[in-house]
Amino acid sequence: MKKVYFKTFGCRTNQFDTQVMMSKLHEFELSNDEITSDIIVVNSCTVTNGADSSVRNYISSMKRKNPDAKVILAGCGSHSKGESLFADKKVFGVMGHSEKENINEILKVETPFYEIGDLKHIDSTIVEEFIGKSRAFIKIQEGCDFRCSYCIIPAVRGDARSHREETILKQITKLAANGFGEFILTGTNVGSYGQDHNTSMAKLLKKISYIRGVRRIRIGSLEPIQIDDEFMELLDEPWMAKHLHIALQHTSDKMLELMNRRNSYKTDLELFNKIANRGYALGTDFIVGHPGEDEKAWKEAIDRVKTLPLTHVHAFSYSKRDNTVSAAMKPEVRGNIAKERHHELTEIIKAKNFAFRREHMGNLEVLLENGKDDVYHGFDQYFNRVEINSEEDLSSNWVLLNNVEVNSDGNKAKL
Ligand code: SF4
Repeated sequence: MKKVYFKTFGCRTNQFDTQVMMSKLHEFELSNDEITSDIIVVNSCTVTNGADSSVRNYISSMKRKNPDAKVILAGCGSHSKGESLFADKKVFGVMGHSEKENINEILKVETPFYEIGDLKHIDSTIVEEFIGKSRAFIKIQEGCDFRCSYCIIPAVRGDARSHREETILKQITKLAANGFGEFILTGTNVGSYGQDHNTSMAKLLKKISYIRGVRRIRIGSLEPIQIDDEFMELLDEPWMAKHLHIALQHTSDKMLELMNRRNSYKTDLELFNKIANRGYALGTDFIVGHPGEDEKAWKEAIDRVKTLPLTHVHAFSYSKRDNTVSAAMKPEVRGNIAKERHHELTEIIKAKNFAFRREHMGNLEVLLENGKDDVYHGFDQYFNRVEINSEEDLSSNWVLLNNVEVNSDGNKAKL
């Protein structure tokens, strides 16, 4: 049997895609060693120019270290760089996203191939990823209809399309019967779920909540404009995690416009206040250092960050991606300035998170992961991490904590 090694670059979605491919390989042996493998499948990422270089460098290094192996390019990079790498004979084959489930047949092909497929396909396999024995990530949709200036994703993953509700519910039912209590819904643009099937995120959430054994549901990320009245009605449901991640990307109106975002600060602030008043912790994505972010725009943005009821942030420093609108924008922001802004932003949110945790020290429902040496970790309903010391085996248990010890770097408790 020929040995196949998978090399995965990039985000969680790509890791899911590698799992889809692995689950479809029947006539090959999965290998952990790239040097002795016959085939190397590179599930690539193309989100920035840096990501492209990492993939290219890896392919070149494999050509040196294992010259007999057939290198196959898969993933987002196959849609942006596949044609040129194939023409330059840097890879033996190229396979697009829609071809993942045919991998077993594709890898049998003896002559060089270019199977790019289309960007409308949705896999029939829904991937789950497990954290311990009680939390599961479920991918419910693929692709994105937005056209943010800095982002290449719609060009390489296609427009938004949803997995079938029936399949999602079946999968969750099976996992809940096996003891999983928390489900995290993910995708490229999760909040667009349902628009192509005449349904909505709120309807899906309700249906999931009816499944026996489901105790808590988290949503990977939402866009402000995706939060409608139907969704707001669910905020007090006991199975909703009391933390939402709502992607703003920026808080200066000038920057939001340059980024071609669909949100604006005024409505974002109203929305965030409304949700925070219902007892929620709120996180966001924020890009610092995008071209055009001058001192004035930054000052406005950071003052507004102070006003917003935020408790968590994923801060990214802008990184150029060719063939995006932002790549041609000027003036660019120097790396050291972006770094300083990144630091300023994360420190502010860290302080806000600390203050939030001091106000929420009791009634914390924590789902613990597997522990080691009597130390367990888990997340509470507000998505704050808690460390627990216990001599009892608490792996995959739910615990209710009152009066945790709140430190600047995290919550602690003893049981
Ligand atoms: S919402 Fe914007 S940043 Fe996110 S995937 Fe879509 S285009 Fe990219």
